[in-house]
Amino acid sequence: MMDKIQYSIIAPIYNELDNLPELHRRVSAVMESTGEPWELILVDDGSTDGSTERILKLAERDRHVRPVIFARNFGHQIAVTAGLDYSRGQAVVIIDADLQDPPEVILDLIARWKEGYEVVYAVRAEREGETWFKKFTAALFYRLIFRITDVKIPLDTGDFRLLDRKVVDVLNTMRERHRFLRGMSAWVGFRQIGVKYRRAPRFAGKTKYPFRKMLRLALNAITGFSYFPLQLATYFGFFSAGVAILAIPVVVWLRMSGSQAFFGQASTLIAVLFLGGVQLISLGVLGEYIGRLYDEAKGRPLYIVRYEPESADEISRK
Ligand code: UDP
Ligand code: MG
Repeated sequence: MMDKIQYSIIAPIYNELDNLPELHRRVSAVMESTGEPWELILVDDGSTDGSTERILKLAERDRHVRPVIFARNFGHQIAVTAGLDYSRGQAVVIIDADLQDPPEVILDLIARWKEGYEVVYAVRAEREGETWFKKFTAALFYRLIFRITDVKIPLDTGDFRLLDRKVVDVLNTMRERHRFLRGMSAWVGFRQIGVKYRRAPRFAGKTKYPFRKMLRLALNAITGFSYFPLQLATYFGFFSAGVAILAIPVVVWLRMSGSQAFFGQASTLIAVLFLGGVQLISLGVLGEYIGRLYDEAKGRPLYIVRYEPESADEISRK
């Protein structure tokens, strides 16, 4: 029987073959320095580059490594969720596998946790090696979210954070499928604090977050924590109705005084196209919420696991 695990480190892996050995080496060095029992949960999110076999090999050699292998790619947020489900530590750290979040910062997170904070999130003071487009859209996104949601999600923080066991237990009861974990971990409350760090460039490989995935994450964040887009339709409806009511006497007066203004098709066409556009956009916004409702109603599992850490223990015992 192993000692009670103090720390769980969760890293989601999607085609990170060249980062795996370095991740394992640096996390091991940092965690060994704590002198307390720890585990590294590597969640393989349907990798196709051989990361899967590499993870299993690491687990064979090092008992700290616990592999969770997905049946296919389910996405970053779901992979982290599986890590939370399987974690056993009293403190749980979520970290990216590409070493953009330096494992050494974990010690700073742990220090704050020992002071009694239950959520210690890492704030990106600087980001190196990323395009201006990524930095700009990210900065814009965090500020938009902050403005329109009720939950005060800390600015410029990713998923790199430490969560106390109490927080993890609460998060594990929240089974929504369009997940925005940093919002959810702000929503639960508890004592929270930020720790500043420098976000490094990727150690190896390319980003697994193309614009399409970033947009989806942003939509999940907005729809998951705010009704603001739905309310926009209402505001806009009142605004256009107001304009119409004001316009009626103006147009009547112009006609009576013999003006040629507002004759012809152009003004009509523009008004119709404009309102038609606004209505279609509002329908699309509704669709975003209804689609998510439909997904929740189906109640499918969040992820499917092909290989669990427990079975890995059994295999190595045979
Ligand atoms: N990731 C994942 N599933 C995906 C996409 C990404 O598990 O579908 C993992 C990826 O392997 C990495 C982390 O999520 O460990 C963050 O991804 P990435 O570094 O590509 O994002 P970025 O830092 O560019 O925003
Ligand atoms: Mg990265």
